[in-house]
Amino acid sequence: MSFTSHSPFADNVLLLFQSGLQEEQHVLAQAIDRAQKEIRALTDSGPSDVADDSRDNASKEAAFASYSQNRTRLRKVVLALQRISAGEFGICAVCEGPIGLKRLQAIPWANNCIECQEQSEQGESIERLKRFLATEPGVCIPLTIIR
Ligand SMILES: [Zn+2]
Repeated sequence: MSFTSHSPFADNVLLLFQSGLQEEQHVLAQAIDRAQKEIRALTDSGPSDVADDSRDNASKEAAFASYSQNRTRLRKVVLALQRISAGEFGICAVCEGPIGLKRLQAIPWANNCIECQEQSEQGESIERLKRFLATEPGVCIPLTIIR
């Protein structure tokens, strides 16, 4: 299999990422399936006393949390696999520069380079700060740190 690609990586590197991501996809799909069954079982469990209820609610919440976490991750994994097929794997979606191999080894579904990621995180914290200031008109923070 060959990738007609702009990707900065050689085919054999892409194949490694592809098989790793496919494995991850498989594991996540199974975990999601398990969580779905667990949630259904907890929802279907018949009348119970109050102590049972709160215990059930806690495990239901835990099941929901892991379910939605895995769903989010699965979406990213699927998108990364699509980027491999499209020959866009390893290219930053923001600046179109290469995403470092180390970053992709740590986060194979990363779709932006570390610089753009840091910038967007910085942007987010500035947005949060601005929202906070908007709701707290009494707070005075030197404008220089907002830029
Ligand atoms: Zn970038």
